[in-house]
Amino acid sequence: MTLAVTIFTLPKLLYSLDALEPQISRETMDYHYNKHLQTYVNNLNNLIKDTEFEESSLDQIVLRSTGPIFNNAAQIWNHEFFFNTLSPTPKSVPEGALAKAIDRDFGSFQNLKDAITKAALGQFGSGWAWLSKDKDGKLVVSAESNAGNPLVKGLTPLLNLDVWEHAYYIDYRNRRADYVAGALDRIDWKTVEERYSK
Ligand code: MN
Repeated sequence: MTLAVTIFTLPKLLYSLDALEPQISRETMDYHYNKHLQTYVNNLNNLIKDTEFEESSLDQIVLRSTGPIFNNAAQIWNHEFFFNTLSPTPKSVPEGALAKAIDRDFGSFQNLKDAITKAALGQFGSGWAWLSKDKDGKLVVSAESNAGNPLVKGLTPLLNLDVWEHAYYIDYRNRRADYVAGALDRIDWKTVEERYSK
């Protein structure tokens, strides 16, 4: 009997490597997407061989695994989500149900952006800043170390910002705050609205 072994491949990038310039350079995207993300994909394929996860979906692995398998699976999940959150032609201001929730839970869109920035700058070392919603639709801003993902805490991710140094060191060196400000300008709030309303 042949098992339906899962082989993960590099998630498709929905725009060209230079499409996020000037905030994120082609060189950064080349390293980030073609090298870092590809490495997580290769690692995961090697790590799940002959384990209980070799026929699992990425979501199942993220929710159930620990250690190196979790780290590589979650990094694939987080990066695909991150690259799909950013856009060459972002909608700059949220509307509709998401906008109402932002006003309700943060007071203003600016306050939300300030909270995301604070989470991104406050994350010591590698990790991610996240906006999620809980089961009642309440918005939650958080920071997670390394490959951390709010999915495992029962939250629904709406957007994330990669604050590993590999995400910004080519373009911004140590200036994480400048990178975060630039990346925030590339967030497509239409995508975030759609995730919120799902
Ligand atoms: Mn990254």
